Amino acid sequence: MAERDPLSASTAGARLTVDPAAVVRNWQHLAAMTGGRCGAVVKANAYGHGAETVCPALAKAGCDTFFVALEAEGVDLRAAVPGATIYVLNGIFGTPDSARRHQLRPFISSLDALAEWPDDLPFALNIDTGMNRLGVSVSQALARAATAPAPALIASHFACADTPDHTLNDAQSAAFATVRRAFPAVPASLSNSAALLTRSDAHYDLARPGIALYGGAPVDGIAPLEPTVRLEARIIQVRTAEAGETVGYGAAQTLKQRAEIAIVSLGYADGFLRAAGGSDVAAGAPAAFGGAPTRLIGRVSMDLIAVDVTGLGARRGDFIELLGPDVPLETVARHAGTIGYELLTGLSRRAERVHGPL
Ligand SMILES: *Cc1c(COP(=O)(O)O)cnc(C)c1O
Repeated sequence: MAERDPLSASTAGARLTVDPAAVVRNWQHLAAMTGGRCGAVVKANAYGHGAETVCPALAKAGCDTFFVALEAEGVDLRAAVPGATIYVLNGIFGTPDSARRHQLRPFISSLDALAEWPDDLPFALNIDTGMNRLGVSVSQALARAATAPAPALIASHFACADTPDHTLNDAQSAAFATVRRAFPAVPASLSNSAALLTRSDAHYDLARPGIALYGGAPVDGIAPLEPTVRLEARIIQVRTAEAGETVGYGAAQTLKQRAEIAIVSLGYADGFLRAAGGSDVAAGAPAAFGGAPTRLIGRVSMDLIAVDVTGLGARRGDFIELLGPDVPLETVARHAGTIGYELLTGLSRRAERVHGPL
C-alpha cells in the first residue's frame, strides 16, 4: 500500500502516486547501459515527480551527479542530496555567492559568462554543436582548450536524438568529438535519454537522461522503461445520457448510443491538457477503470472531465486512472498533440501526492 503524505487532504479530487523506486530501477537500467557513467536530469521538480523524493532515492542507489535547469532548483536540491555534484543547465546569473555556498556548478554557455565566473569555482563548458540553443561555438571552445582553469566537464546537447536517422546527429557527434580531443583530460557529457538509448558513441563519461527515468519513450519504436506515476481522479457523479445527446462544453461530442458517464474531479487546471478531450471528429484520450480501458468524452473543463464508464460498474467516490500503468503516457500525450515531457512537467499541484508502488 502506498504511503500517504500526512499533510495531504484525503478529500482531494485527484491522486498522483509517484513511485521513486521505479525511477531508481529505470536509472539502474540506464546506468548499466552506460557502464555506470550516468547522472540524472531532475529539472522541473524531477519532471513533475517531486525532486525532494526522487533525488535522495537516486543518490542512495549510487547516482552522484544531478542536473537542474535553474539555480533555485539547485539550492533546493542541495538540501536533499548533500554529497552529490549538481550542475545548473541554464547557468547562474548575478553573483556566484549562492552557487559557492551550495556547491552548484553552472553550465557556462558564453564567453561573457565564462569571463565572469570565478577561477576557483568548478563549471561545465557547454558547447553548441549545431542545435543553436545554448553554448559557446566549437571554435570558441577549441580556442579556450589550453587556458586555465580547465572546466570540470565539457558538454553538448543533441537537437534530434529522438530521430536517430537525422543527419544532424552525426554532425553534432563529430563536432563534439573534435572538442573532446582538445580537452583530453576533461570528462565529457553528450547524451540525453534518446542518445543514451540509440548511440553508444555518445555515452562518454556522463550521460544525462531525463525522460527515460520517468517512464517516457523518447524514441518511437523503443519501448519505455517502467511507468513511475499514476494519476487518478475521483468520480463525483455518474450519469446516464441517451444517444443523440451531447457531453460538455461546446456540445463537442454527440453520443452514438446510451452511455453511463463518470464526471471526475480533474481538469486542465491540474495540468491535464484540454486537447486530450474528445469530439465528434477525434476520440478522447484513453482512461482506465479497474484496469478496464475506456475513454474521455467531450471537452476537458478546468476542473472536470467526463469519462465513458458504460457497463463498468463505476460508482461515485471511485477513482479513474487517467495516466499510469494502464494508460500510457505517450498515448495520452499523442491524443493531446504534445509529448510526454509536457504532460509530466505540468502535472497537478492540487492532486493529493502519494509515494509508493503504483
Ligand atoms: C532536459 C535536458 C536533458 C534531458 O533530456 P531527456 O530528453 O529528458 O533525456 C539533457 N541535457 C540537457 C542539456 C537538457 O536540457
